[in-house]
Parts: sequence; structure tokens; C-alpha cells
Amino acid sequence: MYVYADNAATTAMSRAAIDAMVPYFNKVFGNPSSLHSMGQEAKEVLENARQTVANCLGCEPREIIFTSGGSEADNQAIISAARIGAKKGKKHIISTAFEHHAVLHTLQRLEKEGYEVTYLDVSQGHNITAQQVADAIREDTCLVTVMYANNEIGSVLPISEIGAVCKEKKVLFHTDAVQAVGHIHINVKEQNIDMLSLSGHKFHGPKGVGALYVRKGIVLTNVIEGGAQERGKRAGTENIAGICGMAAAMKDACDHIDENMPRVAAMRDRLIEGLSQIPHSALNGDSVNRLPGNVNFCFEGIEGESLLLLLDMKGVAASSGSACTSGSLDPSHVLLAIGRVHDVAHGSLRLSLSEYNTDEEVDHILKVVPEVVQYLRNMSPVWRDLQVGKRQYIL
Ligand SMILES: *Cc1c(COP(=O)(O)O)cnc(C)c1O
Repeated sequence: MYVYADNAATTAMSRAAIDAMVPYFNKVFGNPSSLHSMGQEAKEVLENARQTVANCLGCEPREIIFTSGGSEADNQAIISAARIGAKKGKKHIISTAFEHHAVLHTLQRLEKEGYEVTYLDVSQGHNITAQQVADAIREDTCLVTVMYANNEIGSVLPISEIGAVCKEKKVLFHTDAVQAVGHIHINVKEQNIDMLSLSGHKFHGPKGVGALYVRKGIVLTNVIEGGAQERGKRAGTENIAGICGMAAAMKDACDHIDENMPRVAAMRDRLIEGLSQIPHSALNGDSVNRLPGNVNFCFEGIEGESLLLLLDMKGVAASSGSACTSGSLDPSHVLLAIGRVHDVAHGSLRLSLSEYNTDEEVDHILKVVPEVVQYLRNMSPVWRDLQVGKRQYIL
């Protein structure tokens, strides 16, 4: 048995998404900017996909810009809000300490340009409150950018409450909803969201395609310059096949949230219950407001990389920290931000499920993870020191 439990990194494409893409590779392959009928057919398909995406978010089609993925959407949203702010002399941004690097590194670039960023503390309950946002807003705040749900530890943030605060204080509100779309019901108008990023490959769509919702009236800054595609705001010939695949996957995921997610959450809860029996372990992330598919633990006395390699040999594909940080020796910035010390943060495991996982797979994970943790602890000098009292347990 080989269990894929790394759906926060990427997902398998759905049949519906694959089927939706195929005609646009070699049948209707026209360029939507071309005036002939082949081009115009592609243009129509593109606008239908835009309508589908807009329907899923509760916005108008003209408020959707297609991008190359979640990272580009995050970059464009944040840079646009920063430029709008600068014109009014407002150069303060509010975010959190556990954002995805697509947000954090964009903010770091703006800091070098003279912007000031407040990173809200996430150590209380592994989440933030709308009150923290309200307290951080200043006269010169031009943007609040707060993720919808955390990709590593699964915390779901109080987005509707934060939207209400931002509306009242008249500050632009962007959310990186890459982990939430297709898993949680979203309505950008009801939730007072001004900008939202999403990515196809996190909900069984293709990689390399995403979208940015931008409330009408907000002027975007181009990140990619060139032709007049996407109302002049994102140059480059549209990835028609990818966009159609993403739209099909998004409709499928959003239409079946109520059907799929309770079953995914039940598997998650069984994993959390089973793995918390392992001594000196701790659950990471908000235990109540949590993504249906996310399980994240720290196990004291072991090292995450060896855990992952052994689990892979035993037929479980998992992750420690985010895919982008694995391979580097620094522990995850998310685990440090919630207050885990370096030693403990190194021994982390993320299992992320989708509706494609089964109860039998959960049984398999519950069998092998405790075995592998025990095996690694038995050969760990740190664990020996903990056991003989030369070191104090943290968890
Ligand atoms: C995956 C992910 C991204 C990046 O999306 P890409 O389409 O891979 O660029 C951004 N934010 C979060 C929270 C993610 O999980």
C-alpha cells in the first residue's frame, strides 16, 4: 500500500479536470486574442471558465484575473495594494508571522523599499484574532494580508471577522486562500474580502495556474508586462487548457464541500486521536478551527527528515514543514512562530488528506507512524538523554 498524504503540497488531478483540459491542446487551440473563429472560440471558453471561478467565490467574472498560480496572485495583490497605499502616503502593512513564503518574501521586498510590516503573533492558540488586526491598524495602514488557512498546521483564520474590521477601518484586505478554496465555503462579498489568491493544484486541478480575485475599483499593478491580456493587468497568452482544468476542478470541489469535507475531517480526527497516543508528542495548529485534511505533530527526540524517509519506505508520503523549506536545515518558520523551540520543531510531521484518501489508508498510517517514531527514538542520542534525565522533556 502506498498512501499519498501530502495534499497540502499538491493533489492528484481529478478526472473531470483532465477531461476539461484535453480539447484545448489540439482541437480548440486558438489564441483568444486572435480574431478568427478558432481564436474567438478559445476566448469564449476562457470567459466561461472565468464565470465558473467567479460563481464559486460569489463575485463577478470581471473581478477574476488568471495567473500562473498562487504565488503570482499573492505577489500581484500585495504589490498592488502597496502601490495604492504609497500614493496616499500610507506604507504600513499588517500580516501574520506564519504566512506562506509567497507572501512573506514579497513583504520582505517591500520592507527593503521602506514599507513597514507588522507580523501578528500566532502563538496564542496557533491562530490570530480579529481584535489583533483591529489593534494593529494605524492611520497609515494600506493593507491587511492574512492567509485564510495555514498550509503547514491547518489553522483556519477568522476571515469574516477580519473582513468586517477592515471594511469598518477602510483598509484593503487580501487573503491567501490557496489552502481554503474547495475545502471551505467562501463568499468574498459576504466576507468583505477585497483580494483573494487561489491555486489550481491544491484542489485536484493542474499545476501552474491560479487566479486572483480583485474587487472592482481596485487598480492592479502589473507583475508581468506585455500584451493586453486579462484587461491589461496580466500579460501573456492565456493558459486555456490549464484555466479550463482549474475551473472544472474548482466547480467540482466547491459543489461537493458538504459531501466530501465531513468525511475528510473524520479521517483527520482519527489520525489526530491515534497519533496523540504517542508519548511526548504535540498537535500543531488550531485544534478547533482547522482545515478538514490537516494533521501536524511534533514528536520529541526525533528528526523530521529521517521520519519522512522511513515513512516513504513504509508506504506513506508525508511532509515536514512546507515543501519549500524541506531540504534546508532551518526548521519551519511556521512552527517557530507558534512557539515550538528548534529541537522540537525539527521533529515535525504533516499529513494532509483529501477526499481521495480512504479509511484503510488511515489505518495504515496509524500502524506505521508509531513504529517509525519508536524506531528513530531508539537510536537517537537526544532521546536517550531525555530518558535518563540528562535533558528535560519539552513536550
Ligand atoms: C501552495 C501555496 C501557495 C503557492 O501556490 P502555487 O500555485 O504553488 O504558486 C501559496 N500559498 C499557500 C498557502 C499555499 O499552500
